[in-house]
Amino acid sequence: GSEEKLQLVQRHVRAFPDFPKKGILFRDICPILKSPAALTAVIDLFEEHVRSHGWQVDLIVGLDARGFLFGPLLAQRLGVGFVLVRKKGKLPGTTLCVAYDLEYGTAEVEIQEDAVAPGQKVVIIDDLLATGGTLHAACELMKKQRAEIQGCMVVIELKDLKGVDRLKPHGVFSLLQY
Ligand code: AMP
Repeated sequence: GSEEKLQLVQRHVRAFPDFPKKGILFRDICPILKSPAALTAVIDLFEEHVRSHGWQVDLIVGLDARGFLFGPLLAQRLGVGFVLVRKKGKLPGTTLCVAYDLEYGTAEVEIQEDAVAPGQKVVIIDDLLATGGTLHAACELMKKQRAEIQGCMVVIELKDLKGVDRLKPHGVFSLLQY
């Protein structure tokens, strides 16, 4: 059942204090990828959420870089395509760009202009929701493409940082909350 799958996923997340800098507790999802059963459980749980909520999905949108690890597997399950939101400077051709604030300075995310057609229904995937800045920027890119966002999905939500509030009115489904 779902509870067993969640526990399996939870057993495959590690925490590293003070990485990449002091004060950050880094949640490492690498053990999930090393375990076929845990990885299957993640995709099962994402798929169950999409189906049980009746989400219509034309495309899965994955965030650079760890959204790329889960997004294509989910897309294959659902029988839909996968598109990439990347950090600036990685994608060829005409792109759309959104800047967002980091703790120090700013960053930009990009998508190929022809990645999503107007009206297409998308679900956005990443490994972890912290402040929500990255997912919010991806939502802005989707708006520029006139996509219809069904929701966002992450493996891990860091609740104290209130990323869910930042993403309203879009919902964020998470498997694990810390
Ligand atoms: P944010 O834009 O603040 O929601 O940050 C989300 C992005 O930063 C995600 O792509 C995560 O992979 C990464 N990230 C932020 N905080 C952590 C953390 N404590 N552990 C692992 N990854 C993190």
